[in-house]
Amino acid sequence: MNAEQPSMGGDPQRIVIVGGGAGGLELATRLGHKLGRKGLASIKLIDRNRTHIWKPLLHEVATGTLDTGTQSVSYFAHGARHGYQFELGELTDVDVHNKTLTLAPRKNRSGEQLQQPRTIEYDQLILAFGSISNDFGIAGIQQHCYMLDSLSQAERFHTALIDQFTDIHQNRPGDSLRIAIVGAGATGVELSAELYKVTELLTSYGMAGMSQQQLEVNLIEAGPRVLPALPERISASVSRELGELGVKIKTSVVVSAADENGLLTKDGERIDADLMVWAAGVKAPDFVRNISGLSLTRSNQIAVNEFLQATDAERNVIKDLWIIGDCAASIGADGKQVPPRAQSAHQMASNVLENLLARRKGKPMKGFQYHDHGSLVSLSSYSAVGTLMGNLTRKSMFVEGNMARLFYISLYRLHQLAIHGKVRGALIVAADWLTKAIKPKMKLH
Ligand SMILES: Cc1cc2nc3c(=O)[nH]c(=O)nc-3n(C[C@H](O)[C@H](O)[C@H](O)COP(=O)(O)OP(=O)(O)OC[C@H]3O[C@@H](n4cnc5c(N)ncnc54)[C@H](O)[C@@H]3O)c2cc1C
Repeated sequence: MNAEQPSMGGDPQRIVIVGGGAGGLELATRLGHKLGRKGLASIKLIDRNRTHIWKPLLHEVATGTLDTGTQSVSYFAHGARHGYQFELGELTDVDVHNKTLTLAPRKNRSGEQLQQPRTIEYDQLILAFGSISNDFGIAGIQQHCYMLDSLSQAERFHTALIDQFTDIHQNRPGDSLRIAIVGAGATGVELSAELYKVTELLTSYGMAGMSQQQLEVNLIEAGPRVLPALPERISASVSRELGELGVKIKTSVVVSAADENGLLTKDGERIDADLMVWAAGVKAPDFVRNISGLSLTRSNQIAVNEFLQATDAERNVIKDLWIIGDCAASIGADGKQVPPRAQSAHQMASNVLENLLARRKGKPMKGFQYHDHGSLVSLSSYSAVGTLMGNLTRKSMFVEGNMARLFYISLYRLHQLAIHGKVRGALIVAADWLTKAIKPKMKLH
């Protein structure tokens, strides 16, 4: 038997995907359609949460402008419809030699253990567990700053925000609300604009004690400009728009510590804040360091070869282990690491799907090539800014305003179509428009 081919005869291959996010859920869905439904392989998706929400929407969960009830997808129900099995669990380790993975003991909200640690065997394993915010070991960040890594974290920020707004409205009308956001990447920029939008909405819902003039958002960036990873033209346009909203942008400012009342910078400046958000870079979660045999970057991302297969320190392929999305360190044709973005996760999922199918047929695999289709940044309903890449010329086109907003929204719609299919996806989009028409524009509790 060719070493690259799956075992012939006997039980169908066990394909396990850990992480049902932008990359993992799309892959599980498509494998379910191609193999799971036909009984050609058993497809299992493992996630530590019961529901999926598209991560680029978390800043809207944080401000309450996104209805999580209608936008989250139940993995159990989705798996039953799309030909894969879902298992609730948190990955803690992988034994790459014996091809098993370990899930943490499952606990309820009070900390009581509901399930022992479990070991699951696999034939093919795809790790797609994404990334978390990198606090770079800076004192006080974990204790005092909110992060937007998961639905529960975004909801925690939302509760704190609404508490602050209510307190000002009922007890301290006229007082200002100071919010410091560290990191002017997409998350920090989009959250800043969204905060002005919710303040406007709250006033319209009767919280008249809190106006946009009372909102003080400090957006702090260590680099010389906002959106340092994107073209300068986007950065300049976003700075102007945020400035008009009232955001105070502080560039080339390095935060060295946080305490309960605010942030301290390397230059000794204090930035007082009622709420602080840390969005200054990402890393793969620390538990990945427990998995022996992998080669990792300083940000814990797992080194992969051109087919997105994990490699060890000598660049040898680790058999039947694939890595996609934010936790993969894939080097593009330009010699740079593929950026941690939803479009990268989507493209990696497609590449691994094709290669898993090709290997089953004994066909050659295709190397992964990242195509940058451009970058779009949403400034709430006020505007959007970005670039789109031409398919043929690979030249970028600058877009702004309604056109950019349309493209930005279409990214999420494409993800919905990928995980729900065309008919159901279109129905969901239609239902979203109807819901929007009858419900308040934000979550007020
Ligand atoms: C606020 C915000 C705005 C963003 N905006 C954009 C944007 O406009 N455009 C863009 O391209 N990108 C954007 N991004 C980045 C984008 O969301 C990520 O690059 C993308 O989601 C990565 O996909 P992924 O599949 O690797 O991981 P994720 O989508 O993060 O999914 C990871 C999944 O793994 C699960 N998981 C994690 N650890 C474990 C474990 N130990 N065991 C089991 N399950 C686990 C998680 O629950 C999650 O479901 C944004 C991110 C944020 C936070």
